[in-house]
Amino acid sequence: MYAWRCDRLVWAVDAGDASALLDYVGWNDQLAGVFITHAHYDHIMGLNELAAAFPDCLFYASDYAIAGIRSAKMNLSFYHEMPFEYHGNQCLTMPAHGLELPNGLGVVYGLPTPGHNEGALTFRFHQHFFTGDSFIPGIPVVTKLKSGNKQQNVETLLALRSSFQNDAQIHPGHGPQMMAHDLRDEHFPDLLKRPLR
Ligand SMILES: [Zn+2]
Repeated sequence: MYAWRCDRLVWAVDAGDASALLDYVGWNDQLAGVFITHAHYDHIMGLNELAAAFPDCLFYASDYAIAGIRSAKMNLSFYHEMPFEYHGNQCLTMPAHGLELPNGLGVVYGLPTPGHNEGALTFRFHQHFFTGDSFIPGIPVVTKLKSGNKQQNVETLLALRSSFQNDAQIHPGHGPQMMAHDLRDEHFPDLLKRPLR
């Protein structure tokens, strides 16, 4: 989960823990938008609380992720005995051409990065890449859950790797953040174990 603030507006990526995000949002701030990388429960469980606190906040996600937000079976919470669903009207399909933030802040782009989960998006804001579970440096991507796909994962990792410029900052859904110029082959274990062609 990540968040940044500008001119009393707060933007966040993922919402696994509403209380941490609510702590970050000041009393005079508005939570303006949450970008959802994918709808596994640990990335969305705070949405009901956030929706109640900020009825004007919008949740940006792929159509597949929006379906997952509304289905405890799709978001896997059902299988962890803590079913979570959000059925409000604050979800919006992430625009394919990106979302321009107000006050000249810049554009947030949602890059399709399937493999871990269908419809998974990596959000790029300037040189910040929020990869969710589609890329966690040094950790093999989990592709065995529903709608995961090994081949798409390899394509996603190749595409991500080539889109990182040297000064890019990687903010994964779990684990430490990294600068792109510190990335080595071993940070892409799924690419290392590919058979040679
Ligand atoms: Zn996940």
